[in-house]
Amino acid sequence: MPAYDYRCRVCDTSFEVRRSMTESAPDSGVTCPAGHVETSRVFSAVAVARGVSASGSPAPAMAAAPSSGGACCGGGCCG
Ligand SMILES: [Zn+2]
Repeated sequence: MPAYDYRCRVCDTSFEVRRSMTESAPDSGVTCPAGHVETSRVFSAVAVARGVSASGSPAPAMAAAPSSGGACCGGGCCG
């Protein structure tokens, strides 16, 4: 059973309302646990984050190796 997040604009309380699968989430008419009707539905950020992936080429992190070769023995620290 899905749960929908709501926030009361009077007492600033976040609560969730569980609805059945056949019922859609109401945008109004939901009362908070304290009995206020000035509530608004809160949408989670999970659904918003979709669609961002696979938009460009991934940057190869291992391809940009330093090619100067002066790691240790070139700098004189080995002996
Ligand atoms: Zn309230």
